[in-house]
Amino acid sequence: MKREAAETLISRLNARTGSYAMRVQGVTGGLSGVDVAAAMAGAPRIEESIARLKYAGQEEYRVEVWQWLIAVAIRISDNWRKCSFEQKELLAAFVLNEVVPNRLCPVCHGRTWTPDAKGMEETCACCDGKGWAFPTKKHKVKLLGVAAESWSRTWADRANQLMDEFDQRDRRVIERVMKL
Ligand SMILES: [Zn+2]
Repeated sequence: MKREAAETLISRLNARTGSYAMRVQGVTGGLSGVDVAAAMAGAPRIEESIARLKYAGQEEYRVEVWQWLIAVAIRISDNWRKCSFEQKELLAAFVLNEVVPNRLCPVCHGRTWTPDAKGMEETCACCDGKGWAFPTKKHKVKLLGVAAESWSRTWADRANQLMDEFDQRDRRVIERVMKL
């Protein structure tokens, strides 16, 4: 692999320390699905899916990575007080939206609406019906249904725990991709 390409990948590995613009740009380009498939042969399925989504821009893998993050949240949430399944789903969506940015709203996935309790279409509260959004802290606490103060006290830390799990997998992906 060319040095320049390797540096780009490394900068993406530490997406959280990179600039916002770099994080947004970092999603696409670089590798083809074929490159990624070659690099990830024999790797755990989730690592291949992360690689395809993050480094080959194959958006069809987003839902799978999101579901994996929800499963991680369930696994690591033993000492999280009060965190419903819906809150875990939201937290996983917020984290995925940050580690692999996408213009599509992480809550309605671009549909612009979400089903309400009766299954009726309701304007999405995350993107206000625009279909795309990077939710702000204000949006996040509103969607989670928690007090704003609890974001920095509780929820940001939970999001960071999820990000750490993602980064661990991502690091293994990078190791493989660097060997291309
Ligand atoms: Zn939305």
